[in-house]
Amino acid sequence: MKRVLTRSLLTWFLAAAFFVGLGYFVVRLVTNAEDWAQLPMNGHLSASGLGTAGTIYDRKGVVLAESVDGERVYNSDPRIRAAVLHTVGDDSTSIATSVQSVYRNDLVGYSFLLGMGLPESFRSTSDITLTIDAEACAAAYDVMAANNYKGAVVVYNYKTGEIICKVSTPTYDPNSPPKIEEGDDTYEGVYLDKVLSAAYPPGSTFKLITAAAAIETIPDSPARYLYCEGGTIIGGEYVTCVEPHGEIDMREAMADSCNIYFAELAVELGSDTMTKYANAFGFNKSFSMGHNDLKKSSYDVSKADTAALAWSGVGQYTDLANPMHMAMICSAIANGGSPTNPYLIKDVSSFFKIGDIKAGISGENGDKMMKSATANKLADMMRYTVSDHYGDSMFGNLHVATKTGTAEVGDGKEDGWIVGFVTDEDVPLAFAVCIENGGFGISSAAPVAKAALEASAQALNN
Ligand SMILES: [Zn+2]
Repeated sequence: MKRVLTRSLLTWFLAAAFFVGLGYFVVRLVTNAEDWAQLPMNGHLSASGLGTAGTIYDRKGVVLAESVDGERVYNSDPRIRAAVLHTVGDDSTSIATSVQSVYRNDLVGYSFLLGMGLPESFRSTSDITLTIDAEACAAAYDVMAANNYKGAVVVYNYKTGEIICKVSTPTYDPNSPPKIEEGDDTYEGVYLDKVLSAAYPPGSTFKLITAAAAIETIPDSPARYLYCEGGTIIGGEYVTCVEPHGEIDMREAMADSCNIYFAELAVELGSDTMTKYANAFGFNKSFSMGHNDLKKSSYDVSKADTAALAWSGVGQYTDLANPMHMAMICSAIANGGSPTNPYLIKDVSSFFKIGDIKAGISGENGDKMMKSATANKLADMMRYTVSDHYGDSMFGNLHVATKTGTAEVGDGKEDGWIVGFVTDEDVPLAFAVCIENGGFGISSAAPVAKAALEASAQALNN
């Protein structure tokens, strides 16, 4: 009797272990199947799979990538191919954030239940329409390419969240991906979509955050005057401006991009208040766009002395900003304080709903970054910068509010920034451009922004 009991207990134990193991396997299969399918070693999906994949269109129905006779074919214009490479992707999955990497399962019609076992004609491939405009991307790319610029450009609709123009350089032609030799810096960072996955010292564009902190913390601070002699000692270090700015209030300091004005404000506000406002503006925070996480912007003055705190207030020290995030900050300024979440997938067509690609379609407002009154004050200062200092001709027929930046990145190199938004009612575009080693943002980034904005405005009106 005892032996029978032992044996039946053992049987039960083995059966239980079997089912636990089976359950574990099923869970692993369900949760990881799509990842397994996308492993590079699964060549049937990663390479030839695209040969029968769905089509990718831009917002106007221009074909960016399609499959013809078992081959993946990209747009016939080499400018467009290079300009949208980081958004669309190539045959490989080297650009991990691209549509052809992230949504490959949807494009090729991979099914978790049936795998790739179904004949092609039965597979449910998806066509994907993007929010970008191919011509707007190409227009921005043309200026980048003509000047051999490396960097990031993004323009998006601050009312809807649709990304209209998005370019990352260096780039290449997906029809002939380069063989990159070790140490060849022509292609440094080529697989990175810098709009989404890079972070640069923000330089003077960060003065927007320092200004917001002062506006909300120090009563009447925008009206306070400071005399800029072109240089002063703060916390034992010499802080300089490009030139002496004389007697200036906050609006003038913003337009002149006076370092001393904002460096002294940062010290007056203190590290706790500066950190509070940097965080409210989305620094040190993860934003996601569809299935991709943006590179985090960072602001950390926990170990900063007075001089470092001063530099942090003008976008130096250890400050870093992601270009998409900077455009979102400008959307918040344009929108009375709340940023618009950007998105890239306009529409997906598929017979079966296999993936969850539609999670990529969004556009709601994010957490409020500042009070409405603060947003309006910043908007006025940014608009004044163009109308009174740069001149409206800088942006053709568009009325633009901006902040430029020239960020020291070491070795005597400087990244050029321009961020802002269009104030014309029917052209709700927010933007950010960063040119690596471009020097003054006004000379390097601004002409790229002009081309990107004009072409994006055209895309909106068609
Ligand atoms: Zn100054």
